[in-house]
Amino acid sequence: MPQHGVTVWFTGLSGAGKTTIRMAVEQQLRDRGLKVEVLDGDIVRQYLTKGLGFSKEDRDENIRRIGFVSQLLTRNGVIVLVSAISPYRSTRDEVRTSIGNFVEVFVNAPLSVCEQRDVKGLYKKARAGEIKQFTGIDDPYEPPLNPEVECKTDQMSLEECVDSVIGYLEQQGYLFSESVQANV
Ligand code: ADP
Repeated sequence: MPQHGVTVWFTGLSGAGKTTIRMAVEQQLRDRGLKVEVLDGDIVRQYLTKGLGFSKEDRDENIRRIGFVSQLLTRNGVIVLVSAISPYRSTRDEVRTSIGNFVEVFVNAPLSVCEQRDVKGLYKKARAGEIKQFTGIDDPYEPPLNPEVECKTDQMSLEECVDSVIGYLEQQGYLFSESVQANV
């Protein structure tokens, strides 16, 4: 059966769990033998969007370029996993419209929890004023109003988060559920 392309877009604060969930979802999809590609915000900024900063204009340009590549891949039947803070709602909605097959996953943890985790030590630097325009500290984050999936990572286990994403993709017909596959 042909694979349907879709972009799964993980948005949320730094440290919310985007990369962690994305990696686990990626593994499950690869285990099923599906074509998957990943656009990780941190990595993209070293190549595709190198030189862009963190002003609203540059953040929007970063997201538009990620969105453009996602669109090309999605229309070729790839499952694209994007993890990027993508703080502005209207820009996410813009890429949603251009891509079409778009699943927004709101990776949601309170700022206090993200700050406590401080996976990369960036919150500490932002609080100390060493990093400016840090999302959640001195730069805005506009949460999705109607995300297809919400992972509350302070309340749900990683497994529950991954199951909610995979379950949604199955339910929408982007994947065939394993029980169905077993019967084919
Ligand atoms: P982001 O990519 O959003 O910046 P990371 O995935 O790098 O965030 O870091 C999230 C941190 O939160 C990791 O240390 C991860 O182990 C932890 N964590 C705790 N619970 C969860 C969960 N349910 N889902 C994802 N990450 C979780």
